[in-house]
Amino acid sequence: MTSIFVAKESRAGENRVAATPETVGRYVKRGFSVLVEANAGHSSYIADSEYTNVGAEIVADYATGCGKADLVLKVARPTREEGAAIKKGSVLISFMQSAMEPDAVQGIIGGGGSQFAMELVPRTTLAQKMDALSSQANIAGYKAVLLGACELGRYFPLLMTAAGTVKPARVVIFGVGVAGLQAIATAKRLGAIVEATDIRPEVKEQVESLGGKFIEVKSDDDSTEPSVYAKEASDEYKKRQAEAVGASVAKADVVITTAQVPGAKAPVLIPEATVKTMKFGAVIVDLAVEQGGNCDISEEGKIVVKHGVKLVGTTNLPSSVPVHASELYARNVQHVVDHLVPTKENDNLEMRLDFEDEIIGASVAVHGGEVRHEPTAAVLQPATA
Ligand code: NAD
Repeated sequence: MTSIFVAKESRAGENRVAATPETVGRYVKRGFSVLVEANAGHSSYIADSEYTNVGAEIVADYATGCGKADLVLKVARPTREEGAAIKKGSVLISFMQSAMEPDAVQGIIGGGGSQFAMELVPRTTLAQKMDALSSQANIAGYKAVLLGACELGRYFPLLMTAAGTVKPARVVIFGVGVAGLQAIATAKRLGAIVEATDIRPEVKEQVESLGGKFIEVKSDDDSTEPSVYAKEASDEYKKRQAEAVGASVAKADVVITTAQVPGAKAPVLIPEATVKTMKFGAVIVDLAVEQGGNCDISEEGKIVVKHGVKLVGTTNLPSSVPVHASELYARNVQHVVDHLVPTKENDNLEMRLDFEDEIIGASVAVHGGEVRHEPTAAVLQPATA
């Protein structure tokens, strides 16, 4: 019988879990045997008994679970040791970001297991249900606004009180992807005046439909085709962008930056010189801090004050909303499992690693001791040599 192991996350501050009682129940119904590491759901407020109630077995530790499993489900990229414990022929499904930390990949290569990297799932209609980058970015965008509001020494909404009128906060959002859109919606719900900008001009309508104002910057690209992947901006574009957003940033109470370019370091959109133009007591929440930062003086994992501006570099925001982050991530993973072990005419629950398949071909980063994901292979090259 094909077996699934749900690991407990080992990284500090990681509260999510890769399967919930809902998805475990579905696996059991399909005929999988499911093992769950003791306390795996604890930080997402799921007791072990909720897993056993739907047919799972609790195992004491990671090594025991991995030793028995064909599919290992995790959220964060594994440590080198965790990667090495994936047995030959088994597949680990988790975020990997291996080009950032190749050590974990070395572990998987050594152990002979395979790795399905959740962040590599292509952005196609078929794969939408597996898109964990989007489900988690949505949460990050929401939480970024709440953090900004908490760190700001002012109200967000316009208030008419007996003691006088309170002006609404001004929020500027860089990057109108999944996180940016949710940030606009959340800031509007709290009553702020919201402006946003993005390198992709086609998002203007989406910003306006949420009640925000789009700050237009003349694009480098004449293409009118909407795109789900941003390209790196030219220096000329960055100059035009700085001019277009300068006045809004100087007046802003909160700036939320979410701009990223897949596979590249995040673009610096708020250099130190721009921070110096901002209001005393303003707040910047840099969601791209782990990818190098959209603000060049924000600090990963810290809240610091520089030039009178509070720079919030808190990382892993989805983990701070663990109940819903786990619920959505677990469903993304369940769709991956259904894709790897198709539901139709597959009573034996056989796994197919068909690299001709668009989703599997793109997302299996390591297989049979080889790195299939080219950017990761390039990072590993010098180390291997
Ligand atoms: P992301 O996290 O890679 O980047 C966030 C935003 O930053 C993007 O909108 C990007 O254009 C913007 N950005 C990059 N460089 C910038 C710069 N120099 N200045 C200003 N902005 C910059 O993006 P994301 O949130 O993962 O998704 C991007 C888009 O793809 C969204 O519109 C989303 O709705 C869409 N999407 C589509 C699918 C699908 O069709 N299956 C799935 C997921 C996302």
